[in-house]
Amino acid sequence: MCGIFGYIGEESASEMTALGLFILQHRGQESCGIAVSDGKKLKLIKEMGYVKEVLYQERIEELDGYAAIGHVRYPTRGKPTLENSQPHLIETLSGPAYAFASNGDVANYRKLRKKYESKGVFFHTDNDGELLGRMLVYKIEREGKRIIDAVEELMEEVNGAYSALFLTTHRIYAFRDPWGFRPMVFGRTEKGFAIASESVAMDIIRAKEWREIEPAELLIISKEGVEGVKFDEEKLRRGRKTRAHCSFEIIYFARPDSYQYGQFVHDKRVLLGEKLAEKDSVEVDAVVPVPDSSNFMALGYARKRNIPLCFGLIRSHYIGRTFIKPSQSIRDESVRQKFNPLYRFFHNKRIVLVDDSIVRGTTIRKIVRMIKGAGAKEVHVRIASPPVRFPCRYGIDTPTFEELIANRMEIDDIRKYIEADSLMYLTVEELQDVLDEPENFCYACFNGKYPVLEEE
Ligand code: SF4
Repeated sequence: MCGIFGYIGEESASEMTALGLFILQHRGQESCGIAVSDGKKLKLIKEMGYVKEVLYQERIEELDGYAAIGHVRYPTRGKPTLENSQPHLIETLSGPAYAFASNGDVANYRKLRKKYESKGVFFHTDNDGELLGRMLVYKIEREGKRIIDAVEELMEEVNGAYSALFLTTHRIYAFRDPWGFRPMVFGRTEKGFAIASESVAMDIIRAKEWREIEPAELLIISKEGVEGVKFDEEKLRRGRKTRAHCSFEIIYFARPDSYQYGQFVHDKRVLLGEKLAEKDSVEVDAVVPVPDSSNFMALGYARKRNIPLCFGLIRSHYIGRTFIKPSQSIRDESVRQKFNPLYRFFHNKRIVLVDDSIVRGTTIRKIVRMIKGAGAKEVHVRIASPPVRFPCRYGIDTPTFEELIANRMEIDDIRKYIEADSLMYLTVEELQDVLDEPENFCYACFNGKYPVLEEE
């Protein structure tokens, strides 16, 4: 999972982009970077680390220009190294340079990489963003294609998830895959245009208006204005009628103050909590969320059942999200440092603990132990999503079957493992009841029905 942001206009493009990336930091914390154009040449800064550490004021002042694209990375395809971080700067022998940044994961990466290597394209990384960028540049520079045609051809060849930004010296090309896996929005500010992974960035940069970019839509954005091209999304999906928005974005990944896939994330999280409450009758004294991503689910649950909502777990905000730390040892360390229970609150209480999902089971187990250690009499775990049984192939780090606890264990065994007194999940059907246009979502990590296969 990653976040992308682009800006073109009269304000400092790199400052606007650094601000946008800062707002999207929750989408990736391993590395970040900005590529900027002053109308003649492109410059790039990227490094491992948080936006505030890498893209500080003095540094971005060196990046003068009116068009920029930026990226925060959370690694899925390719190791967490500087080479694999984005944007990718692609220089050509004939002069022009391009930059590319994307969010998602290409399912047929290996096949396409081999195909383009056999055409003489040389890759410097094992990142799918580089593959997409070099595919476009090959079509433009070697085959002499117009950028619009190159993007359409790329959509015909690539299977999988990509919300992408392509920077030339004068324009930004923004496009989204035909399945619409990952979100992306376009907005106008007082003095320019912006593109972001999530609408929350539009709020912060004070966009006057914004909208979602459609699947299979390409926007060509210059200082002067914007043109749009909408390709035939159904044809580009190889005949599949429905889209495949990531339901996990609504459950966990997106900020609750974002609007995506035609719905408000916050509202859907409250409804997911209500849905859990509707089928629950356990007698407890309080509902406690695992902060922050489950707060609104716990609110919905507590309101529906008329049980007090209590913030009994205090979260440190100076540690990254546990789910998106790339190795188990780092994850373990983070959990211990991240949550602390209010000891006096839990004493002798029966608790419903609401969480958005269980992936590996390690975090929730530690939290249940922590709460019981603080004196809770009973801890009933309620998960506002179905069991995650299958790895994601479209950009979220649930990489192997073995790591997914719901793939290895039945629900009651999971309950025993996490040391809870009871455990309840939503079903896929209940999740679908909550979403608008549920047929247009991907649920593959819950039901194994992958909307796009590797070599389709
Ligand atoms: S498999 Fe799961 S995480 Fe991946 S795109 Fe589909 S719903 Fe989202």
